[in-house]
Amino acid sequence: MAFDYDDNNIFARILRGEIPNDTVAENLHALAFRDIAPKAPSHVLVIPKGRYVSFDDFAANASAEEIAGFMRLCAEVARKEGVSLEGGNGFRAITNAGPDGVQEVPHFHLHIMGGRMMGPMLSLRD
Ligand code: 5GP
Repeated sequence: MAFDYDDNNIFARILRGEIPNDTVAENLHALAFRDIAPKAPSHVLVIPKGRYVSFDDFAANASAEEIAGFMRLCAEVARKEGVSLEGGNGFRAITNAGPDGVQEVPHFHLHIMGGRMMGPMLSLRD
């Protein structure tokens, strides 16, 4: 199944430099920047530079180099933000996919959140 990527989504526009962002870290394959509406003292979004809609699209279709670059940048963000288990107190990394996952922006991103106790993993509503 092909994933239908929207080139006008807000993160595509950030990658093209059309919208400013507060960059935390960057490498050849991924960009990390602060969430505009942070849910924790540290709330960073990590996105691949390629056109991937969601976690499953990225995991199935990105190259090994893109996946490695993305994951290494996530580790760099955790270290830089002081939440890595190398010296910090931990963090939560989550990704939302599609309608049931309540994904707002259709460009794959991982939320890295920390700087406080993150509480129960989910709060479900009926
Ligand atoms: P999702 O629900 O898709 O997993 O999360 C999208 C996230 O993107 C939200 O946490 C939201 O605050 C963030 N966001 C939406 N628009 C912008 C923007 O223009 N800049 C930044 N830095 N974050 C954004």
